[in-house]
Amino acid sequence: MALPLAHAAVALGMTRSRDPLIWLCLSLVAILPDFDFALVWGLGLPIGIYHRTFSHSLLFGASMALLWMAIRPIRLRAISPVLIFFVVVSHSLVDMLSTADALDHGVVFFWPFSDYRMGWPILVPLYLWFGPSPFSVVGALQFTLLEVLLAAPLWLLTRSARNGLMACIQSFGGAEKSETLAPKSETGA
Ligand SMILES: [Zn+2]
Repeated sequence: MALPLAHAAVALGMTRSRDPLIWLCLSLVAILPDFDFALVWGLGLPIGIYHRTFSHSLLFGASMALLWMAIRPIRLRAISPVLIFFVVVSHSLVDMLSTADALDHGVVFFWPFSDYRMGWPILVPLYLWFGPSPFSVVGALQFTLLEVLLAAPLWLLTRSARNGLMACIQSFGGAEKSETLAPKSETGA
């Protein structure tokens, strides 16, 4: 499983802002889907049924983007609803890469239209090599160390993908559309 650092690294790769408040906000949004642990740990609901379901879906990402459109504070206006969507969805994609057993712990990405749990456990061997589980003090330290090592490449990968996407949009649709992910106020920061 991925810890907050990996999710935050991907989220920060999507912005060109250097504003610490924007970084903090995007990092929190990146781990937002895991609030479903509150249901599991707080209410004692089965983890296999309630974790990585509705809060890890495309629909949840779209809902958060709409919510952000309604409540976006002036101070954080540089964060577009589209960026919120991509950050929330990126959480699910990173989870898919680090899920040990796709069928048991994969992501229900198309909830509520499908119950199928998706996962491509590319990063799992690395996690297993570092430790069996993050749910202990030693395990959490081991996993955090791994994610420190993973954060830079994940950030770089996301940044490269973002720049490639921007270049495509610019070549096909003009400069104004390319600002969808990065409004002028953000790029100028
Ligand atoms: Zn998650």
